[in-house]
Amino acid sequence: MKFFFPDSQDQVDPSFDFETEERSSLRLRHRDDRYVHEEFTKRPFDGILVSMAMVEHGRYTLAQKHRLHRMGVRRFFRLDDPEIETMGDCGAFSYAKQEYPPYSVPDVLSFYEEFGFDYGISVDHVILGYDLKLDRSNAPAEWKRRQQITIDLAAEFLKEHKRRGCKFHPLGVAQGWSPESYAYSVEWLQKMGYTYVALGGMVPLKTHEIMACLEGLREVRADHTQFHLLGVTRCERVREFGRYGVVSFDSTSPLLQAFKDLKDNYYTLDRTYTALRVPQVQANPSLLKRILSGQVNQAEARHLEQQCLKVLGLFDKGQASVEEVLEPLLRYARLYDDRRDQAEAYRETLTDAPWKNCECDICKRIGIHVILFRGAERNRRRGFHNLYVFYDRLHRNLKAEGSGEAMAVAGAAGSKGGPI
Ligand SMILES: [Zn+2]
Repeated sequence: MKFFFPDSQDQVDPSFDFETEERSSLRLRHRDDRYVHEEFTKRPFDGILVSMAMVEHGRYTLAQKHRLHRMGVRRFFRLDDPEIETMGDCGAFSYAKQEYPPYSVPDVLSFYEEFGFDYGISVDHVILGYDLKLDRSNAPAEWKRRQQITIDLAAEFLKEHKRRGCKFHPLGVAQGWSPESYAYSVEWLQKMGYTYVALGGMVPLKTHEIMACLEGLREVRADHTQFHLLGVTRCERVREFGRYGVVSFDSTSPLLQAFKDLKDNYYTLDRTYTALRVPQVQANPSLLKRILSGQVNQAEARHLEQQCLKVLGLFDKGQASVEEVLEPLLRYARLYDDRRDQAEAYRETLTDAPWKNCECDICKRIGIHVILFRGAERNRRRGFHNLYVFYDRLHRNLKAEGSGEAMAVAGAAGSKGGPI
C-alpha cells in the first residue's frame, strides 16, 4: 500500500530562529527552503502527487513553473531517494463547478510526459453527489453527464498515450455516485485496457460508503486491476482496502489538520492532541479587530503574547508547571476567542507533552515549538510531523495484516484477486 502526498508547495525555512523569530537575510526560498521529505532522515511517504491545477492556477509562482519545466519533477522536488515515486493528476476538485474540465487531454499528457512523472491520471470531472439507491436509470442527468465525460476522456487519454509512446504509467479515473455506478465506470476502463484505476470523488464519503463502493467493485474487478483512492485517508481500514485491490491512496489531511482543525492538530501513533494557540498579535484578524474597536488594549495583548512564549519555553526546560503555563495561555485566549474553552484540551497536551516522546527529526530539533499554533514555520512543521507519524501508523496497520486475524478477514471478504 503506497501513500502519495499531494504537493501544495509547503516548505519550511531552515534559517528561521524560533527564539527571535527572525530569518537569515541571505535566504533564497527556492534554494534554501525544505520540502517535507528533506526534513526527515526516514521518508514520510512513498510518492508525491502533483496536480496540474496546483501548478497552473494554484500556489506556483511563474518562476517555480519555469523551474519545474526546466528541471522535471524529480529534480524540482530534489527527490534523491529513488524509491519515492511521482504521480500527476488534474486536480478535478478545483474545477468541479465548471461545466467541463478546463484541461485538454493532449495538454495533460504533455504535462506528465515533459515533467517526467512515473504515473499520470486521466482527465476527469467530479460528480458532486452520492446516493446509494440511484442507478443509471434514475440518477440526475448531470451526474451521468460527468461520468460519461470522464469515461470518454479516459478513452482519449489512453489512445493518445499509446500513440505518443509515453513512458509514464497511465491511470484511468472512475467517477460514480453509488457502488453500481462506480462498477459501471470500472468495467469501461478495464475494457479500454486500464490496469490501474483511480477512484475519484470519494473525499466527502463516509467510511461505510467507501466500503460499500469497494464491495460493489469486487464483482467487476479483473484480477490484474489495481485501485488508487483519490483523497481518502482511513488509515485504520488499509487492511480491508488492500483486500479489495487498493494499492495506493493520497491525502492532505495529516498536513492540513495541523493548522486547520479545531482540536486534532498533533498526531501520535494512537491519538491526536490540540495544539497550543499563541497567535501573533499583528497577524490575528479577530484580535486586530478588537484592538481597532477599542475592546482590547494592544499593549496588554502584546504583553500576554510574550508572557505565553516565555513561560512555554520555561515549561519545556522543566522550569514551569502545567498550571503556570495554562494561566497566561487561557487569559490570552479570552482576548482573541472567548467562545471556546480550551482549558481541558490544553491541560492534556501540556500534561502528556507528546513532543518529548516523538522520535521524528522535527520534534527532536524544535521541541515544544512543534505544538505551538503560531505562524507558518511552526504550523507546517507540525504538519510534517503529522505526515511522519501517519506513515508510521500506516505501516503499523499494514504489518498487522500478516496476523491470523487479518488473514481470516481476507478469507471472509473472498476478494477475487486475493490479498495484495
Ligand atoms: Zn514529531
